[in-house]
Amino acid sequence: MREVVHIPAGEVRCAPADVLALQGVPRGARLDGRIAAMLSEGISLYESLAAPAGVLEEVDGGEFAEIYAGAGKNEPRTPLALIHPRAERLCLFAVTVGGAVSRRISELFQEQEFALGAMLDAAASQGAELAAAYLEACYGRRDAESGAPAGKRAFLRYSPGYCGWHVSGQKRLFARLRPEEIGITLRESCLMEPLKSISGVIAGGPAGIHDFENEFPFCAECKGKECRARIRRALANER
Ligand code: SF4
Repeated sequence: MREVVHIPAGEVRCAPADVLALQGVPRGARLDGRIAAMLSEGISLYESLAAPAGVLEEVDGGEFAEIYAGAGKNEPRTPLALIHPRAERLCLFAVTVGGAVSRRISELFQEQEFALGAMLDAAASQGAELAAAYLEACYGRRDAESGAPAGKRAFLRYSPGYCGWHVSGQKRLFARLRPEEIGITLRESCLMEPLKSISGVIAGGPAGIHDFENEFPFCAECKGKECRARIRRALANER
């Protein structure tokens, strides 16, 4: 299965509080008028420039094992090394909010419009996360439509560059997924172009496949520990 996914603009609309949180502003903080106006301008600019698009391509377990091995630079033990062999379904994905947003962010910083540039950058980062969440949900719906067993099933994404999957893993992932079809290319450094893009694999199956203890050596340096909330949500969801 390969599918280029149209992502409706309404699915990547950012909440102001999320855009501020990405810049370290506590939720519920009182904003002065200048910041509130800048926030509104940054979000409007993002919404006028965003052109979200995504691609999904299902792979089998053996094929993903080769993609995941990448250039052999992954950490010796990782969450995904535990999870992918347990998954019933695996799907490569890439999403972007488009090149125009990233270009405008660069221009704003070059023009020393740092505050607006930072607002647009945060809005675009949040938009890319929402686009990736939309693809995750799409793939989960395909699973439900295909007659998968009812009960606690979960579809979660994992990306190169995080949790022990080395960023050089992007090379094999891109060679197989070919997200150039939706305008995403890979730089030699393994950063994506446009920058506001996310790629990886969505692993799906019984929710418990995503559960693990976060006691890997690299977890000591992880500030957000986002895996904990993701696992809690996955284990709580039932359909
Ligand atoms: S604690 Fe951080 S680095 Fe460790 S698995 Fe969770 S998200 Fe990844």
